[in-house]
Amino acid sequence: MQKAKDLKEYRKELRESLDNDFLRTTLDNFAVAYRAGRANAFKDIDVRQLINEIACSKDDAAARYDELYEEFKVNAEASGVHVHFAKDADEANAIIVGIAKDAGCQKIVKAKSMTAEETLLNHALEDEGLEVTETDLGEWIIQLRHEGPSHMVMPAIHLSRYQVGDLFSEVTGTKQDAEIEKLVKVARRELRQKYVEADMGITGANFAVAETGGIGLVTNEGNARLVTTLPRVHVALMGMDKLLPKLHDALRILKVLPRNATGQQLTSYVTWITGASECASAENGKKEIHYVILDNGRSEMAKDPLFSQVNRCVRCGACANVCPVYRLVGGHKMGHIYIGAIGLILTYFFHGKDKAKNLVQNCINCEACKDICAGGIDLPRLIKEIHARILEEDGHPLPNMLLGKVLKNRKLFHTLLRTAKWGQKPVAEKDGFIRHLPLIFSKEHSFRALPTIAETPFRDWWKDNRPHVEKPKYRVALFSGCVQDFVYPEQMEAAVNLFAANDVAMEYPMEQSCCGLPVQMMGEMKASHDVAVQNIRAFEAETCDYIITLCASCAAHLKHNYPKLVKDNPRLALKAQQFADKIIDYSSFVYDVLKVEKKDFKEVGTKATYHAPCHLCRGLDVHDAPRKLIETSGMEYVECTEEEVCCGFGGTFSMKFPELSSELLSKKLNNVEETKAEVLLTDCPGCIMQLRGGLKVKGSNVKVRHIAEVLAENRK
Ligand code: SF4
Ligand code: SF4
Repeated sequence: MQKAKDLKEYRKELRESLDNDFLRTTLDNFAVAYRAGRANAFKDIDVRQLINEIACSKDDAAARYDELYEEFKVNAEASGVHVHFAKDADEANAIIVGIAKDAGCQKIVKAKSMTAEETLLNHALEDEGLEVTETDLGEWIIQLRHEGPSHMVMPAIHLSRYQVGDLFSEVTGTKQDAEIEKLVKVARRELRQKYVEADMGITGANFAVAETGGIGLVTNEGNARLVTTLPRVHVALMGMDKLLPKLHDALRILKVLPRNATGQQLTSYVTWITGASECASAENGKKEIHYVILDNGRSEMAKDPLFSQVNRCVRCGACANVCPVYRLVGGHKMGHIYIGAIGLILTYFFHGKDKAKNLVQNCINCEACKDICAGGIDLPRLIKEIHARILEEDGHPLPNMLLGKVLKNRKLFHTLLRTAKWGQKPVAEKDGFIRHLPLIFSKEHSFRALPTIAETPFRDWWKDNRPHVEKPKYRVALFSGCVQDFVYPEQMEAAVNLFAANDVAMEYPMEQSCCGLPVQMMGEMKASHDVAVQNIRAFEAETCDYIITLCASCAAHLKHNYPKLVKDNPRLALKAQQFADKIIDYSSFVYDVLKVEKKDFKEVGTKATYHAPCHLCRGLDVHDAPRKLIETSGMEYVECTEEEVCCGFGGTFSMKFPELSSELLSKKLNNVEETKAEVLLTDCPGCIMQLRGGLKVKGSNVKVRHIAEVLAENRK
């Protein structure tokens, strides 16, 4: 048995992908074009509403798979189709091998099927001496190269036309030009003969409709039409997650699937099969059709309150298309068989812990996948949950345990930070950066300079400078998070000054501590839970209108994750929900609640661009407020390319995968510099640490500020 790879080996493989210029350029170009194409395809459609409806109908189907399977089987058999149920991959493969043998088949043509990839069907068929040819162009290419798909919809996206040209030259024994049109012609010529000779065709299915007993296939190349019509036997292998009650449910998914997958309104072919039709090559003139419905853990997953949502996946591949990590390293490093965010999850369920344990750590938690998922699946949360499960099974690494223990003990944590302030003195520069990175950090972490711990934490400043507001319009409590408390207190101070000037009375509960996101990112759910309880209790006595935080990551974590973390304790769950309901980010509070106006600020005219923190734009769905505030504050806002793409910080992610963090940062900084802005504004101290540190190493003059700082400075 092959030994499981450790994180070091996995990181070496990531490095190889990062050094592959072709892969990087292709995935970059694709990511940009995809985003524009998708936006165009969905214009005039309420995509959120559609996704919600899909989620509900898929959840409903998952709750009654047994019933739907029975209905589907009865209706399919009534139209002359044989229906089989396979509990796992081996059983599915054995059923299909058996069908081929019973029908005397030797040559098989296949259309693309991720379910067949999941069961490793080709190997099982070939082991029995059957000849299998993939007919989807991308699948045929990777079959010839003996490798797996690197994308669920575009399996050979990682290969250049030159590589394909060389491959086709080898296969045909004739030198082939590396021109795409010519290569497609070669494939067509080679594959046509295979269709004619084949006695069995194998496909997957996008939909299995219980009310009709029919299946639906969504394709672009037309090969599935030939695979399902020419050979005398057709086998369709599909997961039981494809079962849907009505044709209407399938048509709803069809409205989203191609748009989400490739930005197409509709694929070139949509094939519906509703029974055994006439077939000239069959002895009795009738096609033999078999549907194989695969469970392979899906029914168990459907019973899991958290993971049942995985069965909503319609395999559109969009979660890879928008993933900044996939964009850097490609699908072979971002999944085992299934690719992208859903691939990280399915690898654990279908292919085991050893294959999944490195993959699930390689998620920066940017929420881009969750934002776009056709089934509305909370993919980042599930990835973190699997990481936590693996740690429970394998044991927790020492650094995780230590950090968990420290964060759970506020006094110890703050004492350590105060001690570190003294310890850093010999290496602290006047400009707020550490001169040399400590020795524990290797060269690979030098892509950004690290900040020093502040002379006076915000909590100490607050004790002496707490403003008194005579006739408050609002009463708020401030949540600083550890970075703004101990590293960037000036950001909190700026907010306090602006709030006081706008008649906002403030409290700062002293028992608050780190929000706990760093330990959640490390899969330490118990520590994350304990930190959440500590913070909820710290704010328990506050009778405020809002709880404001200047950190986008804290805001999203407090608002969305705290209620989930304590859901098993009904008394605390209620408190957590009340706490979460009051959370608001700085920009939304100042723009939407305080409604500050242009006339309140000096017209400074400084050119400023913006970086949208992942947890603000996707985590909290806040888009307009910060940009409007920049304009309101008297600055000239210049839009930056890919403003809402992750800067590569991701808390502990940037420590674990510095090679990926630095690449994401480098792209971001190049985009920022192209704007020619003097100032880069954002509203998350983590992003500020990453961006400021990166610009310092680059020697750039662009200043990175929190929006709160410029608003306080530009106030009349
Ligand atoms: S959260 Fe971001 S990094 Fe993680 S899988 Fe989703 S898109 Fe990729
Ligand atoms: S998880 Fe969502 S985005 Fe990813 S393939 Fe499935 S449906 Fe598409």
